[in-house]
Amino acid sequence: MDQLDELYRDVILDHFKQPRHHGPLADATLTVEGTNPLCGDEMTLWLRLDGGRIQAASFGGKGCAISQAAGSMLTEQLQGLTLTEAKALVETLKGLMQGQEPPAELDLGDLESLAGVRKFPVRVKCAALSWNVLEQALKGDTQHTADSTQNTPKPLK
Ligand code: ZN
Repeated sequence: MDQLDELYRDVILDHFKQPRHHGPLADATLTVEGTNPLCGDEMTLWLRLDGGRIQAASFGGKGCAISQAAGSMLTEQLQGLTLTEAKALVETLKGLMQGQEPPAELDLGDLESLAGVRKFPVRVKCAALSWNVLEQALKGDTQHTADSTQNTPKPLK
């Protein structure tokens, strides 16, 4: 897996081998899918939203260790966040990939280990798949919050 620092690699492999929040969420209110064709990574994100908060999040998919580990780390971090906090997290992660330090008040958890992939531009796309899918989901939610009588449709890619 490229020349990742050992510390980063261990955290990433741990999530890859034992993914957290893996598999469909039974009572998801939002499902969004995305792909990273460069590497063949696929990801589905399930969210249960309630009152502007992510009550639960899970992911599924297939692909390289970095893409799947990123999904595990992201869903771990999303549990209980407000939509505003989740959007801030997406922006922070994008910045992280561009070499910016995350704000001190924001806890990135294991996601911080993904900073190790920014030396490898091709791998950045693998890591970014998870939060690109999340971003789609968050956009979809703001478009459909007015309609609470049915599940939010999948946003178009
Ligand atoms: Zn990949």
